[in-house]
Amino acid sequence: MSLNAAPQWDFSSDAGKRNYDRALRLYPGQVVVDLAALQSNMETLVTAATSSVGKTEVMGVIKADGYGHGALAAALAALAGGATWLGSAQAREALMVRRAGIGPERCRMLVWMYNAHSAPIEELIAHDIDISVGSLADIHGVVRAADALGRPARIHVEVETGFGRNGFTESCFDQALAVLKDAAARGSVQVVGLWSHFAVADMPLVKEFVESTDRQIAVFEEFTARMRRAGFEPEIRHLANTAATLTRPDVHYELVRPGIGLYGYEPDPAMGDCTMYGLKPAMTVQAQLGTIKDLPAGHGISYGRTYLTQSATSSAIMPLGYGDGIHRSASGFDSAGATGRTHLGGPVRLMTKQGPKLVRVSGRVCMDQCVLDLHAMASDLGVQEGDTVVLFGPGRGEEFAEPTADDWARSAETISYEIFTCLRNRIPRLYLHAPQVLSADDLSLLDPASIL
Ligand SMILES: *Cc1c(COP(=O)(O)O)cnc(C)c1O
Repeated sequence: MSLNAAPQWDFSSDAGKRNYDRALRLYPGQVVVDLAALQSNMETLVTAATSSVGKTEVMGVIKADGYGHGALAAALAALAGGATWLGSAQAREALMVRRAGIGPERCRMLVWMYNAHSAPIEELIAHDIDISVGSLADIHGVVRAADALGRPARIHVEVETGFGRNGFTESCFDQALAVLKDAAARGSVQVVGLWSHFAVADMPLVKEFVESTDRQIAVFEEFTARMRRAGFEPEIRHLANTAATLTRPDVHYELVRPGIGLYGYEPDPAMGDCTMYGLKPAMTVQAQLGTIKDLPAGHGISYGRTYLTQSATSSAIMPLGYGDGIHRSASGFDSAGATGRTHLGGPVRLMTKQGPKLVRVSGRVCMDQCVLDLHAMASDLGVQEGDTVVLFGPGRGEEFAEPTADDWARSAETISYEIFTCLRNRIPRLYLHAPQVLSADDLSLLDPASIL
């Protein structure tokens, strides 16, 4: 009997259990996404957005393949949770969702990252996807595509309020407005939205950052006024990411664009943890152990000898590596190792005869695997090859010793966003609670083998 550090998965049917067993044969690691958590997180965000004055709609951001959770499943769960918009940076995810049959009657969509020379703008317009414009080249490209198609493009004008990424600057806005006025008069575009993006809204406790966010808001208001003076009434104004959706009801406007909150994480641990906001991480990453063996004290582990065992111990292979998107920066070093430097490797939850135990990646992360120092003898722990371990999951409280993506982010010196989005698609994505959350029609859009 192998030990299992993952939750007892709540399979929806015998077929779900068979899909799970099949996934374990296909690959020794799995990403399990709880669609009920995604739905509930969206409901929480919708509640946060509607508590403000006026009617604010919520866009589920599904860029980067739904932050690595699977863009279609994330989109469907977001809609089930009350989102009326979906957004992605690249055209790819938005077109995929429309082609799956999620039409404009179900949700509006927005795409904001493309180059106007080679992007499939005609397809975006034909699929009734709104398009952001943030440069004159964008406007020209969208007008060209709309004219070729004989159908106006719905556009959202992005403005530079201090983020320093995309969008019209204050100095070129008059020219942009003139070009837009002409394009709108000729019926090539319909200007429906005005928007911008925050740089530091995830640091609500840092005074300078709050002031910087306030300045961005003031600049946005100024852009709004200039747009109105030019004869455009932006029906849909949007500024708020997850951080501002949760903490700045004053800038919800007509639409908010939460991403990370949908997936159950707070944007920055400086905001506290997700439970403070009623959010629940949807993703669990688990793997089945490979070789387990006993090593003497002072034995090097993995490339570069950055980790030497401190005493006689057992090691176990965790069969996911940087080729799966496990950050090499989450390698474990100890002071006895070649660098003389200590660095805590990524945490992994094991189940043992004595209960759950947290161990860490020891030595360098390899391409297809990592080594775990069990800091005990495997025979005493009852740990065997094939046991399921958990890299991260919803957290499930102190007593479970279950790491979250924030713990991996800390080890890898990055943010939770990068932990999920780096996970390669060779790790199967499996969906929990899909039949409870999705209608039969929506359910039929997912790969049947992915439904637990
Ligand atoms: C990614 C992104 C969001 C969502 O940000 P979160 O911090 O994940 O909530 C919103 N708007 C734009 C333009 C984005 O690129």
